[in-house]
Amino acid sequence: MTTNSGHWEQIREKLREEYGEATFNSWLKNIELDRIEGEQVCMTLPTRFLRDWVLNNYANRLRQLWTTSDKSIKSVDIRVKPLDKKNIAPQKPTFGLGEVTAPFKSQAEAAAVPTNPDPSLMAPLDPRFTFENFVVGKSNELAHAAARRVAEAKDSVPFNPLYIYGGVGLGKTHLMHAIGHAIAANSPKKRVLYLSAEKFMYRFIRALRFKDTMNFKDQFRSVDVLMIDDVQFIAGKDSTQEEFFHTFNALVDQNHQIIISGDRSPTDLEGMEERMRSRLGWGLVADIHPTDYELRLGILQSKVEQGKITIDPRILEFLAHRITSNVRELEGALNRVLAYSDLVGRAVTLESTQEVLSDLLRANDRRITIEEIQKKVAEHFNIRMSDMHSARRARAVARPRQVAMYLAKQLTSRSLPDIGRKFGGRDHTTVMHALKKIEELRQQDVALSEDLELLRRMLE
Ligand code: ADP
Ligand code: MG
Repeated sequence: MTTNSGHWEQIREKLREEYGEATFNSWLKNIELDRIEGEQVCMTLPTRFLRDWVLNNYANRLRQLWTTSDKSIKSVDIRVKPLDKKNIAPQKPTFGLGEVTAPFKSQAEAAAVPTNPDPSLMAPLDPRFTFENFVVGKSNELAHAAARRVAEAKDSVPFNPLYIYGGVGLGKTHLMHAIGHAIAANSPKKRVLYLSAEKFMYRFIRALRFKDTMNFKDQFRSVDVLMIDDVQFIAGKDSTQEEFFHTFNALVDQNHQIIISGDRSPTDLEGMEERMRSRLGWGLVADIHPTDYELRLGILQSKVEQGKITIDPRILEFLAHRITSNVRELEGALNRVLAYSDLVGRAVTLESTQEVLSDLLRANDRRITIEEIQKKVAEHFNIRMSDMHSARRARAVARPRQVAMYLAKQLTSRSLPDIGRKFGGRDHTTVMHALKKIEELRQQDVALSEDLELLRRMLE
């Protein structure tokens, strides 16, 4: 006759086979056989979170396996393993980086929730990054609306995950922090965890080093809302990605909200596993486009109002016109101008602005946008601007479109997928094809070669 622990060994192996290595390691590996009391098997798990999860998801199968391998067993009980005194280190390895705040709940509240994420996991939220301080324009309205929806959802999960992407300095982090602030205000009971993908990795590696991965998993998998900023950082980092994938799945399975930001769309995340990329695109994908003039001016005006600063409106218009790269640079420019006038004790003038920002202005001038290229090329070949985005394949519009793609690649630093998006959401392979085609033609067709040269000079 097999002993109880022999039964358990066999059942364990069965579970491993049935659910696969990853699931087994995440959830089932730490189940221990405690004792058998009459018809009942008592098993333990180290944390309440794990216990609840296993009860909800694997208890039936576990009972079936027990009752078939030992006919005297009728039920299975899973408990949280009582803490073993000698295993409690006086001071756990702290994961803190020092700069940590826990904005979501009071100490007392935090203590009341046993699976509350370690406050040191949480990156601090910038108090300025609120919805009130976020200026909405055409380029960011979708991302903003989606962020609001997620922040205001009380018991539902409107889309999972919410994936926000866009270039640097366009407000991704601002929106995520705004979600954090809003949830803290509206649903203070919700456990929210915000951190960068980089920090996620750093914590994961530490957990591995301190052999504390169970705790790590618990911390992440017990939150109601998980926000991971700059996910592109873990592209190419395979084991972190793997861990993130499991965390992600566990939270989605429990219908908990995930919000992720990246610098490009999920499909364009090179170095990210295919299954991860596809998961990231499951919910709502909202991109933030580069700003337009109105939005830039609106942002400057809002900053000036918040700071109760008096400044000639023409200076703001000048900045909105000339600093087109991103909002971070725009804010930086305004701050520099204000700091300068403060230092020298004179009001800001257009001249002093130009002087103080000469380096920044030059850098912004050199940047040619894809829109400008499209406009010039469309004018030159006498087609409509809308044909740059249209699906029409007639040679008369397709060729100029290819020329514009070619120039976009040459004159800007945008990636192929980026360029494709600007041309009516075309695939990067279409762009690649256009580049090859034009390069070929350029060698054979003198007229085209001259067109290209002329356009390039006009644009530069
Ligand atoms: P990202 O995370 O996309 O790189 P951030 O969220 O850090 O960009 O934004 C950069 C700076 O620009 C921040 O100071 C942020 O407050 C500001 N900002 C960006 N977009 C807006 C906006 N629409 N309204 C107000 N401020 C903005
Ligand atoms: Mg950011």
